[in-house]
Amino acid sequence: SVRRTPLIAGNWKMNLDHLQAIAFVQKLAWSLKDAGHDFTAVEVSVFPPFTDLRSVQTLVSADKLPLAFGGQDVSEHESGAYTGEISATFLAQLECRYVIIGHSERRTLHGETDEQVAGKVAAALAHNLSPIICVGETAEDLEVHGASAVPVAQLRAALANVTSAADIVVAYEPVWAIGSGQAATPEQAEQVAAALRAVLVEVLGEDVAAKTRILYGGSVKSSNIASFMREPNVDGALVGGASLDVAEFASIVRYQK
Ligand code: PEP
Repeated sequence: SVRRTPLIAGNWKMNLDHLQAIAFVQKLAWSLKDAGHDFTAVEVSVFPPFTDLRSVQTLVSADKLPLAFGGQDVSEHESGAYTGEISATFLAQLECRYVIIGHSERRTLHGETDEQVAGKVAAALAHNLSPIICVGETAEDLEVHGASAVPVAQLRAALANVTSAADIVVAYEPVWAIGSGQAATPEQAEQVAAALRAVLVEVLGEDVAAKTRILYGGSVKSSNIASFMREPNVDGALVGGASLDVAEFASIVRYQK
């Protein structure tokens, strides 16, 4: 079987301004280096607000920090009259490696549709950004359809414009587990991650599916990360609240220690 490098991704949401971002990234990098973290064994990425990205890029490049970073969203459009939107070109120019797409907060608070998510995935890939495609069921979906149906349908829709072997990441984030303190069980996460990998096999083929990382997200903490990482189809985590504390996030990254 193919070895997939685990990815621990911190989604800051609308927290930490550009000055706080610099202090945070410096502390995080030092704390991980101090602990002897092997960044090639477990990859680390942060997702600051757009207004922080230039500062984070400057710091990461000046200090040669082994951290990746990316945007929390991207426009499906290339440029033009889209007030408030940020293009994939802009993110790529700032050396973003990843971009989060279709987070449940974008889907529910901003009415983002599956079609828009698919457009954003295509825009990211066109600019060599690796999309972190977020999928997940609400508590009601879970009751009515079971755990896998909605995330599977969302992933299929998100991949509508993707044909070739593409550098994508999938994040399974049950909506009921996000920010609730009530994480899925490792068994639940594995069951849905396996169903998502089956979709990847079907749409992108065995080889790409075997290489694609599937993250779990939803109330991940230093105390539960290892249990998720033991599951064969879980290749990392998307972390919200716990990514805002340097010590806690570093300890999630260091789940193998
Ligand atoms: C998220 O919003 O991506 C998330 C997983 O949040 P939290 O870790 O706070 O549940």
